[in-house]
Order: sequence, then C-alpha cells, then structure tokens
Amino acid sequence: MRSEQGKNKKKSTEQAVCPISKKCGSCQYQGMAYHKQLQKKQRQEESLLGSFGKVEPIIGMKNPYYYRNKVHAVFDRDRRGNVISGTYEAKSHRVVAVENCLIEDQKSQEIIHTIKNLLKSFKIKTYDEDTGYGLLRHVMIRRGFKSGEIMVILVLGSPILPSKNNFVKALRKEHPEITTVVLNVNDKKTSMVLGEKEKPIYGPGFIKDELCGCTFRISPKSFYQVNPVQTEILYNTAIEYAGLKGKETIIDAYCGIGTISLIAAKHVKKVIGVELNKDAVKDAKINAKENHITNAEFRQGDAGEFMVKMAENDQKADVVFMDPPRAGSDVKFLSSVVKLNPKKVVYISCGPDTLARDLKYLTKHGYQVKRIQPVDMFPFCNHCETVVLLERK
Ligand code: SAH
Repeated sequence: MRSEQGKNKKKSTEQAVCPISKKCGSCQYQGMAYHKQLQKKQRQEESLLGSFGKVEPIIGMKNPYYYRNKVHAVFDRDRRGNVISGTYEAKSHRVVAVENCLIEDQKSQEIIHTIKNLLKSFKIKTYDEDTGYGLLRHVMIRRGFKSGEIMVILVLGSPILPSKNNFVKALRKEHPEITTVVLNVNDKKTSMVLGEKEKPIYGPGFIKDELCGCTFRISPKSFYQVNPVQTEILYNTAIEYAGLKGKETIIDAYCGIGTISLIAAKHVKKVIGVELNKDAVKDAKINAKENHITNAEFRQGDAGEFMVKMAENDQKADVVFMDPPRAGSDVKFLSSVVKLNPKKVVYISCGPDTLARDLKYLTKHGYQVKRIQPVDMFPFCNHCETVVLLERK
C-alpha cells in the first residue's frame, strides 16, 4: 500500500488544468499537483480525526484521471440555440458545457457526445427547466470497468422517445459496447436527476461489474462506488480490519447492492445487510444468488430502525460494518449499536466531519478507535473516504 504513495510522488509533476474548473466547481483541487492534494487531505483527516488515534498515510491512486465509472450530463441549449451537454454551474442551474472532463470515464464521455450529435437528426429537443418544454433532460452513463458493460440512462421530461428503436440502433452503431439503454421519466421541477419511472428499451436494464472477486448487478437507482480501483482497496482494508475468523455473525448497514456483505460472506458464518433503497436490496438479493452465497440475507428499511429492533430482540452480532451516506449516521443507529455491543465496528465514511461526530458518540459509549485509514476515492475533489476500526473497550 505504501509503495503506491511513492509512485504518487513521481506523478505529481503532471498537473491537470481543466478550463472550466472554476465554473463547474466539482474539482476543488484542479491545478494542484496530486501529491499536494494527498498531503492536503492527510492534514484535513488528521485535524478532524487525529484526536481519536493515529491516522495512517492516505492511499492515493497510481493514475488519478478518468476514474469515475458514473458520468452525468445535463442537456440544454446555449444562447445561440446550440445543444450543449455538461454540468450545472456551481450553486446555480445554469449549464456549463463540458467537452473533456479529466475525472470521468472517457468512453462514457464519448457516448454523451454521440448522443448530442444524434439529437438533431432525430429531432429531439432538450428539456427547458423553466418552461417544461422539450424532452431530453439528462444522460447518465454507468460503466463496469472490469466487465466492460455499459448502461445508458436517458432522462426525459415526458414518457415517449420518438423512434426509440432507431435511436438505440444509431447509438449502438457508434458504440457497440453499450449493453443496455434505459428510459427514465422525470417530469418534476427538481434538482434530482432520476425520476421514479424507468423502462429498459434495450438490454436487461442493469449492468454487472466485478469487485474483489464477486459479481454485482447494478440497477439505475442503486448506489455503486464511483471509483472501482480504490473501492477494492477500501473494501479489502475494511475486511482486514474486521479480522474475521469464520464464525462471526456480521451486520452490513447501509449495504447498497450488498458489496461488502457478499465479499465478507466467505469469511463469516452469517451476514445481514440492511439498506433503504428498494432497488438496491433487490440487486443485493440477486447478487447473493449469482455468487452462490447462501449465508447472506438482506432487509429493506432504515438502518437505525433495523438496529433498534435487533437490539430489542436481544439478537447478537460480532461485527457491525457501517457505510452511511455523507451525512453520517444518527443517534438511533449508534445507540442501538452500543446496545447490541458487537466486539468490533468497522466504519466506512465519505465525510470525515460527520465521521468525527459519530466517533465521538461511539468512543463515549464504550468503544475505542484502533485504526484509521484514509483512501483517496475522489482525486481532484475535496472529499475523502476513511475506514475506521473500533473495538469494544
Ligand atoms: N456500502 C455500500 C453503499 C454505501 S452508500 C457500497 O459500498 O456500495 C450508502 C448507502 O446507504 C446507499 O445505498 C443509500 O441508499 C443507503 N442509505 C441511506 N440512508 C439510509 C438509511 N437511513 N438506512 C439504510 N440505508 C440507507
């Protein structure tokens, strides 16, 4: 792991400067050498988490470019009426055209350019957020870096895409790698990209990908880590921290499509995964079957409520893995963890400030921080992922 950091230092002379970085606002560290970015994140992690224990050196990427497997483009017209695709300007709803993003998958970006060019010949209008007139709002692309499978999601303001079969044919003629195309309908005035309704118009409506030797089916609305290279490092670190011996019952809270659950399943007696998103839970159950894993079960619901019930019913767990969204966990969840009293808690976080808040709670209530490992999942952005091992005192 450390040798990767050495390599990062060599790479640091390559500085990427994106022409629209200021307007886009996604990459706060554009123009900063990669090793400097890592130093900055290390310092941030130390200032937020240092009081809990030693923060290990952050694990960076060998190649920090084009790492995102999920690419989103909003469609609009510029002042001259030309179709543009890109991103919302920071803190506004104005669209900035993106020609070449340095962190998004390149193949997915090519597909977005092709879609932009096809709109004219298919007479498809872009959606106008103010008037509600027009059709195409967003395109979202997800690509399995290991499987090569590609899902294109066309987000429309109304349900019908005229000549949809010919559109798919024309798109796949340019990009035969596309394995599925999904229509999603979003007719609401909202900043959410995806609407409720969706329908595959080509292929199965999901892609598969591989992580740490398991295969995962990913539906349009299911969460899947955006940087698969670093995700394997993250998951391996989390599982190593748990020190599993084969006899444990473990909980994977905020489990998404069951990635951590199923990768850990072969090292334990039983896994219970809990997740709020219905589509993700459905994916997780299918993923267990497809990987021939019989000791994992998945529940749909709020992780906090699930934990409260477990604690009330006096059920036991040896290790709790928890991987909440950036907002962190809540007292309902954390207090039930304390009641359940597992030997170990492995906390995976994408928000070091909410992580610090939750660690404060757990360390006040009988747990001790043993290891802290930052992993850089988001080069050029100011976010940082962290794995923390806590043990019962
Ligand atoms: N561990 C998974 C997912 C992490 S992302 C992975 O590595 O892929 C966080 C997940 O928490 C998302 O799937 C989100 O849908 C889910 N989530 C958000 N709020 C939740 C809640 N209150 N209870 C359970 N799951 C929740």
